[in-house]
Amino acid sequence: MAKYVFVTGGVCSGLGKGITASSIALLLKAKGYKVFMQKFDPYMNVDPGTMSPIQHGEVFVTADGCETDLDLGHYERFIDEELNYTSNITNGKIYSSVIEKERVGDFLGSTIQIVPHISNEIKNKIYEAGTSSGADIVITEIGGTVGDIESAVMLESLRQFRLEMGVNNSLFVHTTLVPFLYGSNELKTKPTQNSIIELRRLGIQPDIIVTRAPLDLGEHVKEKIALFGSIPIENIIEAKDEANIYQIPINFHKQHIEDIILKQFNLKVTKSNLNEWEDLISKVNNLDKEIEIALVGKYVELEDAYLSVKEALKAAGYKYNTKIKIKWVNSEDLEPNKTNLKDVFKNTQGIIVPGGFGSRGIEGMIKACNYARINKIPYLGICLGMQIAVIEFARNVCEITDASSREFDELCPNPVIDLMADQKAIINKGGTLRLGNYKCDLKKGTLAFKDYKTDSIFERHRHRYEFNNNYKDIFEKNGLIFSGINPDTNLVEIIELENHPHFIACQFHPEFKSRPTKPHPLFDSFIKSSIANKK
Ligand code: GLN
Repeated sequence: MAKYVFVTGGVCSGLGKGITASSIALLLKAKGYKVFMQKFDPYMNVDPGTMSPIQHGEVFVTADGCETDLDLGHYERFIDEELNYTSNITNGKIYSSVIEKERVGDFLGSTIQIVPHISNEIKNKIYEAGTSSGADIVITEIGGTVGDIESAVMLESLRQFRLEMGVNNSLFVHTTLVPFLYGSNELKTKPTQNSIIELRRLGIQPDIIVTRAPLDLGEHVKEKIALFGSIPIENIIEAKDEANIYQIPINFHKQHIEDIILKQFNLKVTKSNLNEWEDLISKVNNLDKEIEIALVGKYVELEDAYLSVKEALKAAGYKYNTKIKIKWVNSEDLEPNKTNLKDVFKNTQGIIVPGGFGSRGIEGMIKACNYARINKIPYLGICLGMQIAVIEFARNVCEITDASSREFDELCPNPVIDLMADQKAIINKGGTLRLGNYKCDLKKGTLAFKDYKTDSIFERHRHRYEFNNNYKDIFEKNGLIFSGINPDTNLVEIIELENHPHFIACQFHPEFKSRPTKPHPLFDSFIKSSIANKK
């Protein structure tokens, strides 16, 4: 039977609850325990797939095709395990499933209430994560801040969960803020005290407090929090601000957070194996080169919209001791005729066009792609970035000047990117994209094959439109290489160019499979070529 760690947050959002949860999971894994992770999001959307990336950040996609919160990306990168549909639960999912059951007649005779019907559904999802994953320990993060109306029922479910499972099978970690006030020049514990009181009001006494602060707390501050929080002083774990998030698990390890958890669970406190992670930290702290990669996108005002892409670029950089400086380019800014692309990209060694939806900013991306192709700058196109590369090539090499995607121009005379028949029949927007793992066969002798060093791969998808195979011959005649094809549907997965130092684009999202300790092959070679470009 699994044991359960719950991570809640107080005072304000953005304290790094996701990183706290991931770090705990990583440290327990390093002790030899099988871990699984889960996130509860208190919003009413069924999943974040229908939200704007500018509001919500990236939508992370699991191998089994679940559209999830970006924190799941942190989880996978920290624990290097594939998560699945049981890993991201929202209020929207919980409520719709309860209402569906009510309609079928599962609760005939009863009045459906928040407690027990909604709270039971939430608890079932927690138990399900434990049983279906077979993990020793499940780490569940509760989104939002304690005190929010939205997450109240989730916390109520945790209170009941503790009652059912007891202290030796469930543990509460509460993350809070300890701000530094200029003027009085001291760290203030009151927000933390109040946040603990708020949690207790809901019937939950935390077992561990993780304090986010700009400085070391010092004994005096810790004693105060311990007294008011009514927890042992050693159960206060300091999360001091760190420029590099990958340092956090090591900081927690030094304060023995995983030992505290294992002891409460009556599990053996084994020796930690953190070699791989420590190697990573030393690489991150010793980067001696720097290159600039331009990311040309339509959501660049929020870096989190490209979180996994950013982390995948950095991970590849670590391998080559190179710091990746990302130049965030809003593709719309490239659109006016007077824009001088030479100026924009004067210090750029590689150009990446990542995913996106809708017609805004498309022409700017096409210009950036064209610039990379003509000027032989390494190019990596991801999903929309592949579709852009196809349109650019169609217009400027194949001379199909009115080529476009059906997404941007429904009546387009030459839809080189189009909807497939199965997508045409779909009306609902939520959860209906081509999602999750699909197979891709690689053509020998291509850059893709050289990168992956294998005949076939599985990669995660999230898109509705595809390369239109009716145009394949004309593209091939003009020199485009189709280096990755889905063997079941014949859909194009990867394209590349000859006579270019590095031009490759894929219909899937490789960034979701990159790990800080294991850069993804496509990012690896893109960064390698970009470094060579600098020389
Ligand atoms: N908008 C494109 C499509 O739906 C690309 C999606 C993406 O980049 N994730 O096919």
